[in-house]
Amino acid sequence: MSVFKYEKDHDGIVTVTMDMSGPVNAMNAEYHQAMEETLAKLEAEQGLTGVVFASAKKVFFAGGDLNDLVEADPAQAEEFFQATEAMKLGLRRVEKLPVPVVAAINGAALGGGYEICLACNYRLAYDHKSVQIGLPECSLGLYPGGGGVVRLTKLIGVEKALPFILESKRLVPAKALAVGMIDATVETLEELLPAAKAYIMANKGSDEAAVQPWDSKGYRIPGGAINSPKNAQLAVMAPAMLTQKTRGLMPQMTAAMDVAFQASMLDIDTALRIEGREFTRIATNSVAKNMISTFFFQLNKINGGASRPQNQAKNLTRKVGILGAGMMGQGIAYVSAMAGIEVVLKDISQDAADKGKAYSQKLLEKRVTRGQMDQAKANAVLDLILATDNNEDLQGCDLIIEAVFENIGLKHNITKEIEPYLSSDGFWGSNTSTLPITELAQASVKPENFIGIHFFSPVDKMPLIEIICGEQTSDEALAKAFDYTMQIRKTPIVVNDSLGFFTSRTFGTYLDEAAHLLTEGTNPVRIDAAGRAIGMPVGPLQIQDETSLELSRKAQETWAEMGITDKWGNGDVIRRVIKDMITDNGRGGRHHGGGYYEYHADGTKNIWPPLYDLYYKPEYQISDDDIQDRLMFRQVIEALKCLETGVLRSVADANIGSIFGIGAPAHTGGFIQFVNTYGFDKFIARCDELQVKYGERFECPDIVKQHADSDELFA
Ligand code: NAD
Repeated sequence: MSVFKYEKDHDGIVTVTMDMSGPVNAMNAEYHQAMEETLAKLEAEQGLTGVVFASAKKVFFAGGDLNDLVEADPAQAEEFFQATEAMKLGLRRVEKLPVPVVAAINGAALGGGYEICLACNYRLAYDHKSVQIGLPECSLGLYPGGGGVVRLTKLIGVEKALPFILESKRLVPAKALAVGMIDATVETLEELLPAAKAYIMANKGSDEAAVQPWDSKGYRIPGGAINSPKNAQLAVMAPAMLTQKTRGLMPQMTAAMDVAFQASMLDIDTALRIEGREFTRIATNSVAKNMISTFFFQLNKINGGASRPQNQAKNLTRKVGILGAGMMGQGIAYVSAMAGIEVVLKDISQDAADKGKAYSQKLLEKRVTRGQMDQAKANAVLDLILATDNNEDLQGCDLIIEAVFENIGLKHNITKEIEPYLSSDGFWGSNTSTLPITELAQASVKPENFIGIHFFSPVDKMPLIEIICGEQTSDEALAKAFDYTMQIRKTPIVVNDSLGFFTSRTFGTYLDEAAHLLTEGTNPVRIDAAGRAIGMPVGPLQIQDETSLELSRKAQETWAEMGITDKWGNGDVIRRVIKDMITDNGRGGRHHGGGYYEYHADGTKNIWPPLYDLYYKPEYQISDDDIQDRLMFRQVIEALKCLETGVLRSVADANIGSIFGIGAPAHTGGFIQFVNTYGFDKFIARCDELQVKYGERFECPDIVKQHADSDELFA
């Protein structure tokens, strides 16, 4: 029996219910066969009045099979192209059926799922938030190559279609209806099939309802073709803006825009063929492999709990205490309250605690103004936060997160003073960004309950939490920290203790390498441009200005007090720069009156001119390739060392942590995935070159050589 159930009713309407053997309906060999058989029957059917495509699964249709797509091999590009063409031909045959075809969208229709809907004449959806509609392929290094770019462009016009294609937006039915991506909605699931059939009966025998707009004579695409004079500005500006945003590192987006432009000018069949050719090039490219591996498979693995100890009962945090209502504490209070958790926000004075709570008020007011939340809900969230200077209010917290100044003595004292207020089965989290958890836990009477919960700034926007296990941290505490992270809707990575853990330590190498380049005499403008060119969100000098040089100085001081003086290679260089900048010139960073840059009232900035006198040597010769590779390889090598020494527990944590926490370029799939597609031998050779030219810090970690020998990818 086919996995597409075929039922014809007394009105001559055939309902095709897709119920594939896997957990979801997906475009694979089974789909291809079922669609071929269904089309053959439909094309031969006598007395047909209409067709409804429905789904027996919760999700309408999940899209392309990513297990197949991640394996797409450039050596088999022709085969891949032919398979894509065959799939697209099937959808073209759906369009050519002489009767109205309706997509009855009962659940998410994303990617290939929505491409099937686009090939139907009429799209009807159950109006529920679980029903997401859209084309998210670009976020996985692909683009909608099953007719999605071409048909959406022809349906709603280039200008309107491009954001949905390039930004991978997922819409609920009401929004999809408003922009013309679907035609109607129903309020309940029970109404869906009857409404689909009623539409067919109402349009029985109508040519218009059975022919796609782009197949009807004289169809004009909304907004006109891209070469029409009224689109001149769009034709020039859109590619320029895309290149500025992606720095040319996202080939799938460039290709998708090009195909959309062509689709606006060409007939459907020619446009579909171009879409398929380009898709073959994109799907067999390393960017697609990187992004599918990391953003789909590895992210699912993490969010599915792969790094959570399995034998621990699920834990719900009900009351969280937050010590320190500063920049981090106030953000942690907001995200916790947003998840419905009662919050006690404590600082040394009532005034400081109130200021911390006011931050949540500000964010909630913004949500209300933007229509994202009603006033009553905003009040309820704010009411969950108690701002206080009184320890007694912390009584009975399930979790206390310490976010006071980065000082080990202070943190020890606070642990001793406040730990007794924790509930008997509560656990303690430190938000330190640089201090070893094992040492912080020494002040605790229950070090097994002590764990690092490292948030990133700004807390309400950054999706990652780095959970750090100290030497004595128990599985129970880890499971609880993991569950709390999921409760506040963040993505957790789990790492073992090390100075700077994984993220701060790896990020530190980016800043350190910039200090090397600077003191060698490189023009600072070139250093920051190179950081952006490799795909980091901001150049290393600018980001150090933002996070503050002052913070780096404090961290260096603390480590010196702890007897740690030479971490991360040549700490001497960055120490020298910090001394030159802060001690000698008072340049502590953007929020300390300026750093490498000077900042003007009108929002502009430029390199602080004396920086040139300090280090710049016009005669110093270095290629752009070397600058870029030095900034990238330092971070990749540090991530590899973390993996080799067990600071990182999985490749998934490394890749997701590097992208969400450090800003590693998304097209690389993260710092470890970078090595997979760069090629092991090539990576080793490049490390060797950089090591000879620039120093021992570029020595290739053994773990790469081991993988090169066994020819096994990091997975
Ligand atoms: P901050 O200076 O903005 O805030 C610290 C707050 O702690 C202040 O409001 C201070 O009054 C309060 N405080 C000091 N002693 C206290 C006490 N005894 N009891 C209660 N409150 C007390 O600092 P921040 O940037 O929020 O950093 C806090 C912690 O978070 C540090 O450990 C830092 O390393 C870590 N962290 C910071 C960032 C970042 O980007 N700023 C990122 C991750 C982690």
